[in-house]
Amino acid sequence: MKFLQKDETLCIQCHACESTCAQAFFKSDDRTKSSIKIFDDPGERNEIINVCNQCGECISICPELAIYRAKNGVVMIDKKKCVGCLMCVGFCPTLSMRIHKDFLEPFKCIACGQCAKQCPTKAIEIKHID
Ligand code: SF4
Ligand code: SF4
Repeated sequence: MKFLQKDETLCIQCHACESTCAQAFFKSDDRTKSSIKIFDDPGERNEIINVCNQCGECISICPELAIYRAKNGVVMIDKKKCVGCLMCVGFCPTLSMRIHKDFLEPFKCIACGQCAKQCPTKAIEIKHID
């Protein structure tokens, strides 16, 4: 399985990862269109970096069978099947399914690794496990 591993002790909250993700997937400068989220204030969740860990818990919750695990282990949303009910968003145990007013469907990290390439401190890295 492929996923984005995080080490919050290394994160300097530069937000380069968010900018890279929004640009890579939506050609946008709007960081709220990023699948990885950086909190300047960790708040009650005590979390700085929030991103999908590819657990796949959402797969069985989707009434349209729009969520699946790809051959490389990454959990994907089939936009052709998704009706935007947002059940997966509310269900996600790590709160890492994203929504934005510009899009009907939610979106999530697919472990492409573009953000990790831009991270100056290696706080995020692509990992592969069996
Ligand atoms: S928003 Fe789309 S992917 Fe999520 S549960 Fe609803 S139909 Fe499935
Ligand atoms: S690019 Fe790296 S250091 Fe910068 S906010 Fe993202 S994870 Fe943190």
